[in-house]
Amino acid sequence: MKIAVLNQKGGSGKTTVSIHLAHAFSIRGYRVLLVDTDPQGSTRDWAVARNSEAPFSVIGLDRPILHKELPKLAQGYDFVFIDGAPRVSDLTRSAIMAVDFVLVPVQPSPLDVWAVHEVVELVQEATIYKPDLTAAFLINRKIANTALGREVTEVLGEYPFPVLKAQISQRVAFAECLNIGSTVLEAAPKSAASDEVRAVVEEILEARE
Ligand code: ADP
Ligand code: MG
Repeated sequence: MKIAVLNQKGGSGKTTVSIHLAHAFSIRGYRVLLVDTDPQGSTRDWAVARNSEAPFSVIGLDRPILHKELPKLAQGYDFVFIDGAPRVSDLTRSAIMAVDFVLVPVQPSPLDVWAVHEVVELVQEATIYKPDLTAAFLINRKIANTALGREVTEVLGEYPFPVLKAQISQRVAFAECLNIGSTVLEAAPKSAASDEVRAVVEEILEARE
């Protein structure tokens, strides 16, 4: 299965979500490839910051040739994640054409929710050529016990894609781990943060069946 984590909005959590999901799927025993399409190369920096080999493969490919190259690159992998680029560009279109599923991380703030219409439109355009393409929103950086979270889920409900039931909270651990080339799954496998990541994995696997 090929999954693109896309949202042109910087800071929505594409890199955080991509790395954590890639790791969580590899812990489940799947062979995972993570493709960094951000020219800034945050995911590649993460792999370099590690003091051991990454538990999954990481490559950088920041030219709009993914839809042509990915079938070959994906050989031998069960799951491929694409960490999306920060702008709507040919790179984003190429990523959408390359995958089966688009996951859109969204911060629970009105500005971020309004901004998702761009990526929604791109996915809808792509379904003309790829009728089986699916997409879903993932709330990231949720702050517990705020009305904002509920309101955002309501507004997102007006878009044509579902909102995953599993959500990722705002937690310092997510940011700290990435800085040192780690993930919460490695640094704190029994934490609430790790539970949240695993819940997203479960939901993606269930949806695939
Ligand atoms: P993007 O790749 O979409 O630009 P990042 O994953 O790089 O977004 O996240 C932007 C910033 O927000 C980073 O500093 C990251 O550590 C932080 N961040 C993202 N998700 C969370 C979270 N759930 N909790 C705390 N910090 C987060
Ligand atoms: Mg990023």
